[in-house]
Amino acid sequence: MPNSVKNTTFVSLLDLIAPHSCRGCGCLGNILCDRCKNNIISSHINICPICKTINPTGKCSRCSNFPPTFVVDEKSTLIGELLQTYKYQSVRALAKPLAEILFHILPQTPHKTQQIIVPLPTISKHIRERSFDHTYLIAKSLAKLSGPNCQVQKILLRNQNTVQVGADRNTRLIQAKSAYTISPHIDIDPNATYILLDDVWTTGASMQSAIKKLQQAGANNLKIAILALSRID
Ligand SMILES: [Zn+2]
Ligand SMILES: [Zn+2]
Repeated sequence: MPNSVKNTTFVSLLDLIAPHSCRGCGCLGNILCDRCKNNIISSHINICPICKTINPTGKCSRCSNFPPTFVVDEKSTLIGELLQTYKYQSVRALAKPLAEILFHILPQTPHKTQQIIVPLPTISKHIRERSFDHTYLIAKSLAKLSGPNCQVQKILLRNQNTVQVGADRNTRLIQAKSAYTISPHIDIDPNATYILLDDVWTTGASMQSAIKKLQQAGANNLKIAILALSRID
């Protein structure tokens, strides 16, 4: 039996035996209690993932060509632990609180503006292993919170099933360059606000490739949302 299946079964059994406990502080009740969730939101300091300077507005003055970017926190903090649990133990219940955190750190879009969340496509092998698409699930939850003018569109398609986990920086950069194409079934609305969503920024190669594709396709008003920033580079 593959490890992922064993883990999923184990967690499901645990959840049957014991009620949800907060993955931040252990208190019983929710998978992430309000106090831990609010701590993450209130301690949020927006850091540019490229030059690592603090930029509260999302728009980095040093990286002028880069779209406004919103990062919850570094991967070494609670947000990183939550993502590990969510992805590798398939704890789907974390999708909603993770989306709530993102909702609070993202700037409000004017009421009538059409808002489209674009999840960075997950490698199909990972979806099969985890039995769910982790980024898509967060995107769906975030769209629900954002109201009737917000929807999720799978605009980006992954060209090849190259696996990035463990790959070095150069390999990732080469893989990322040709990683995505725009879905032929979706028209880009030049007046809409697009939010490109990914869970972890490591080298940023995937995101930069995806940003380029979306901009070339006409997504002029683009924002980037990332849950955790990894400092390995
Ligand atoms: Zn807690
Ligand atoms: Zn910057």
